[in-house]
Amino acid sequence: MQFAHTKERADALAAAALSRMATLAVAPTPNNYLLWYAYEADGLPDLRREVDRLLGDGTTFSPEVCEGLYQRHFTGQARRDGIDDASRKLEETIATVAYAVGTAEQGAADYGRTLQGLVERAGQPEQLNQTLASVLAETRRMAELNRALEQQLTDSRKEVSELRQNLTVMEEQASIDGLTGIANRRVFERILIESAAKAQTKGGFVSLLMIDIDHFKAFNDTHGHLLGDQVLKLVAKSMVDTVRPGDTAARYGGEEFAVILPSCTLTDARALADKIRLAVASRRIVNRRTNQDLGKVTLSIGVAEMALGEPLTGFVQRADEALYTAKRNGRNRVCTQAELERQIA
Ligand code: GH3
Ligand code: MG
Ligand code: MG
Repeated sequence: MQFAHTKERADALAAAALSRMATLAVAPTPNNYLLWYAYEADGLPDLRREVDRLLGDGTTFSPEVCEGLYQRHFTGQARRDGIDDASRKLEETIATVAYAVGTAEQGAADYGRTLQGLVERAGQPEQLNQTLASVLAETRRMAELNRALEQQLTDSRKEVSELRQNLTVMEEQASIDGLTGIANRRVFERILIESAAKAQTKGGFVSLLMIDIDHFKAFNDTHGHLLGDQVLKLVAKSMVDTVRPGDTAARYGGEEFAVILPSCTLTDARALADKIRLAVASRRIVNRRTNQDLGKVTLSIGVAEMALGEPLTGFVQRADEALYTAKRNGRNRVCTQAELERQIA
């Protein structure tokens, strides 16, 4: 996504973003600003959808919720260095603006004090001419200061907008799946590592869903890849619409998806998996161009819960095995590791 906005449009978006952040009591950190600017610009459909859903639910945009949104929609390990660099520059620019505003405030305070002094002396008529001349000189100085501030703000705004643009392009390329707009595999892997580490140190649950579209090859063969792509988007949207803030829905590859569910037990993860399964299974796929009804698409889902101290490969493999058990047992169903264990026993 590119933010190739005109100055007027960028001004309006910046104002809308800051005003919304103020209303929602979101701190104006660089990451949050990026989030809300992108939301106002409507450049990331998935971000828009998720935020709209949260707004509709009346969710509080706590630092954790904002961080989750930022992680899901903007971060990417590969470009981290470049991003850090751009973030630093952005922070410097913001600091310059803050300094300029501070200088202007100081100038205004000095101006006020000078005028006050002049007014007190103006009581004596012989001083009137000199007082007026001083007021004029002081006013000119103030106007000069304001002009300098305005210029500085304009320069900074331009710089911020350029940095935003670079940052967004870099981050988007690094983290978002181009077709579905949800997190890609790289982000999935990073967040899985982070979620697991957090659960290990703080104690807590992490569950994982592995999702695969049933008989998708047949769908593609019958209806073509373009309609197949529409189905992939529909599945991604159903996942995003169902998961909670803080969860990560990702395209794992091809027609496979995954969801990371921090602080979620196997039982709750199973319930959420079933919601996603039903959301997709209850939709009829329609060819929008011809209005032809193409029937339904179903999902098989495997669910696993991380065991304390286990390697991530084992965790992912268990979710995968549960997925293939769901396939073997007839598809369009959810299977958990508990069912695997029962089968082995
Ligand atoms: P199963 O129920 O066992 O999962 O059967 P399946 O046909 O879904 O599985 P298989 O692995 O045989 O086929 C996966 C298909 O997914 C084949 C491939 O054409 C399709 N696919 C993978 N990536 C994409 C994509 O980006 N777009 C489209 N349209 N199809 C894709
Ligand atoms: Mg597959
Ligand atoms: Mg499949």
